Parts: sequence; structure tokens; C-alpha cells
Amino acid sequence: MKGAALVTGASRGIGRAIAATLAREGWAVCINYLQRKDAAESLLAQLRAEGCAAMIYQADVADRGQVAAMVRAVEKEFGAVELLVNNAGISHQALFQDTGDETWDRLLAVNLTGTRNTCMEVLPGMISEKRGCIVNISSMWGLRGASCEVGYAATKAAVVGLTKSLALEVAPSKIRVNAIAPGCIETDMVKVLGEETKAMLVEETPIGRLGQPEDIANLVSFLADDKAGFITGQVITADGGFIV
Ligand code: NAP
Repeated sequence: MKGAALVTGASRGIGRAIAATLAREGWAVCINYLQRKDAAESLLAQLRAEGCAAMIYQADVADRGQVAAMVRAVEKEFGAVELLVNNAGISHQALFQDTGDETWDRLLAVNLTGTRNTCMEVLPGMISEKRGCIVNISSMWGLRGASCEVGYAATKAAVVGLTKSLALEVAPSKIRVNAIAPGCIETDMVKVLGEETKAMLVEETPIGRLGQPEDIANLVSFLADDKAGFITGQVITADGGFIV
């Protein structure tokens, strides 16, 4: 068995596929969720039936205390977290000037501070083991900008800055930190945009389709592997050629 992996926001969408892929590859996976206990439980049951090691844990990544309790629970169950995937995220579509303080603050709290909170809690274990891998899920919108998603895109750009800077800081401890910038991936997050927008996004994607959660999960699997042992501080885009 590989070590302990914590995947945030793993009840649905991209995180769910990441957790399933890692568990099937032998990682002992913690499936974090916020509200959808039913979805987290169904994934847990599915993975355990396949003989995988998995647990679920409800925590709001924006809350440092909840994150700390979650990481302690994973350590108790599976040992120190060796792989952290910061996937939990929220988006919001509105004109910049119509985006209120509460929405702005929540975007930052979940997408940026959430990533910071989990890193803070797993790093002591990784540093003492001189081993660890962190994969942050940013977005192509954080790289190229997105009209009517200024708050979301700003948090995802900030995740890129966090990734590069932290990678430099913890490299001497043999910890790698990378980010993935997905393009349009077919999940609930994209469903809310409606069929017309989805068709437009497919048209704009050179490879001619939306991405599937597994497209991102496969990349996480590679980055987590020792095969990627010389890769750190990078942002890898998986977007079907959208922003080439
Ligand atoms: P999704 O289908 O909306 O799923 C979001 C997941 O995050 C759910 O499991 C949700 O838990 C969890 N979550 C939300 N807020 C949380 C919080 N505060 N604490 C813990 N968990 C929380 O989203 P997705 O499309 O899979 O996106 C996953 C990540 O990829 C996000 O960071 C997103 O920004 C990024 N991304 C997505 C796309 C895309 O096209 N889909 C493109 C670029 C980047 P519950 O089920 O319990 O609510």
C-alpha cells in the first residue's frame, strides 16, 4: 500500500475521480466533503467493496480548526499525509460590480485560504518525513482571466502564486508542490452554465469536447508518482488546447 492521501472536495466531480483513481492505485484515501455526505458515502462504499483503503471526513476547508481536526483524523487512521490534493473549490458568475462582499470573501476563504489551511496542517508531517507531494487545483481561468468570474479567477491565480512560492520554500525538504489548471470539465460546476454556454465552450476547445474528471485525475496520479520526482513549482494545463 502507498501512503495516506487527502483529497479535498472529493464527494463529487473532479475530486471524486481523483480520490477513486488514487485509491485504486493503492493510496489510503481520505474523501473530504462539505455537504454531500450521501455522495461521499457512496464513493466510500464503492471503494471499500473494491478492497481499497478509504475514509470520509466532513470539513469546511475554509475553517482552520476543522481542517486541523481532519488531518489529525487521517494521521490516526492512515499515518502522516504524504499526498495532499487541494481540489475543493467554489465558483461564482456575476459582473465584478455585482459581486458582493460576502461572495468575494467566501471565494477567497474556500479557494485560497482553504488551500493554505490544508498545507499548513500537513506540512509538519511531510517536513519531518522529508517526503511529500501537494497538488493544487487551479483553473485555466486563473491563467487567462475570465469575464464575469473576476473573483473566482483571482483566487485561482493566487493559487498559482502560492504553488510556486511554496514549492521553492519546501523543496529542500523533498516536498514537491505543483498545480493543475483544468479547462472546462464536465461536472456540476459547469452544468450550472447551461447547455448553450457548454456548447460554446466545446466549440472553443480545439480538441472538440469538454474534459472529463478522469482527465484531471490521471494527471494528479502522474504528479503524485515518483516518475514526476523532478517536477515541482509547475502549473500544468489540461484544457484540450483552450489557451494554447
Ligand atoms: P463541483 O462539481 O462543484 O464539486 C465541488 C466539490 O468541492 C464538492 O465535492 C464539494 O463538496 C466540495 N466543496 C465545496 N466547498 C467546500 C468546502 N468549503 N470545503 C470542503 N469541500 C468543499 O466542482 P468541480 O467542477 O469538480 O471542481 C473541482 C475543482 O476544480 C475546483 O477547485 C474548481 O475550481 C476546479 N476547476 C473546475 C473546472 C471545471 O470546469 N469543472 C475547471 C477548472 C478548475 P459537497 O459535495 O459536499 O458540496
